[in-house]
Amino acid sequence: MNVRSAPERAARAAILRAAGSDRVGKVVSRYGMRAGARRFVPAEDLDEVVEVMRRLNRAGMRGVTGLFDDHARTEADVARHEAEYGRQIDRLAGEGLDANVALKLTHLGISFSDDVMYGSARRLLDRAAAHGMRLRFDMEESPLVPQTLALYRRLREEGVDNVGVVLQTYLRRSEADLADLLPLGLNVRLVKGAYLEPASAAYPDKRDVDAAYVRMLERCLAEAEHTAIATHDPAVLRTARVRISAAGVARERYEFQMLYGIAVPLQRKIVDAGYPLRIAAPYGPNWFSYLMRRLAERPANLGFFLRNAFSR
Ligand SMILES: Cc1cc2nc3c(=O)[nH]c(=O)nc-3n(C[C@H](O)[C@H](O)[C@H](O)COP(=O)(O)OP(=O)(O)OC[C@H]3O[C@@H](n4cnc5c(N)ncnc54)[C@H](O)[C@@H]3O)c2cc1C
Repeated sequence: MNVRSAPERAARAAILRAAGSDRVGKVVSRYGMRAGARRFVPAEDLDEVVEVMRRLNRAGMRGVTGLFDDHARTEADVARHEAEYGRQIDRLAGEGLDANVALKLTHLGISFSDDVMYGSARRLLDRAAAHGMRLRFDMEESPLVPQTLALYRRLREEGVDNVGVVLQTYLRRSEADLADLLPLGLNVRLVKGAYLEPASAAYPDKRDVDAAYVRMLERCLAEAEHTAIATHDPAVLRTARVRISAAGVARERYEFQMLYGIAVPLQRKIVDAGYPLRIAAPYGPNWFSYLMRRLAERPANLGFFLRNAFSR
């Protein structure tokens, strides 16, 4: 269903608000609710994620991992996160896996120093480039969009070519951002957007978000260097498939992306139809906010989560 009802919209907002609550996070983490989270968060550490990536590769899928952790507030926090991302890059490449890494700039200092963030991102990109790996900056809350895009632009203008970015189609600004970025030779992941945003920044009506997705997708397939079509929406996926075959878009110029544990039968269908698909499976101590975003996307998941959480 494309239109969210008023109670569903309210549930989504309430769940996303709880996602920002330290108190709820502590309770959920402490009382063994990990059991309920397993469907969406399959790995607790890098060893486990390597196993997940192996399974995905065996099933004909590519993988991408990332980190759940607190926002960096000091250079020491950035160093700790950078070390973990560095371990991910070396390990995935060392194991010969078809998998890469998505970075959250809140881990690399975006909230306190553009210079620290740049230095850290640049070192990680150089490290990934040595393995022939691409990294992508996830997109977080809307106040962080200008700095994220400025960093992407700076790196592209410096000739860094193993970096990608994300645009969220719920943001009113994203179509203009897309037009600005395309001349750089754009590698973009298109998503609808997962955070709680004010109506001044994001379309409140889901129909507008979905329509913007299709408009941006068409432009990306025509003009971007590479488009990651990250959605579980069957209608958007159908449109994408039609456009890809009608325009004969080369396989190297796009891939589908989905989240671990979501729309699993659809994942299989995409791969069986011969399309490239990458599955995202991040891990880390702060999995609570990620879980809440997944519950907010489909409040019916809350029932599934609670049943599992309390059945042990
Ligand atoms: C690989 C990947 C990376 C992402 N990176 C970012 C990012 O950097 N920044 C960002 O803001 N967002 C990111 N997202 C999340 C994205 O913004 C959406 O919140 C999420 O993909 C759900 O929207 P949808 O496109 O699937 O469409 P929707 O219209 O929300 O959902 C379409 C259908 O998919 C299924 N579905 C969707 N979500 C769920 C769920 N949680 N549980 C069960 N079924 C579900 C349902 O059947 C639903 O009807 C990412 C998503 C993916 C797949």
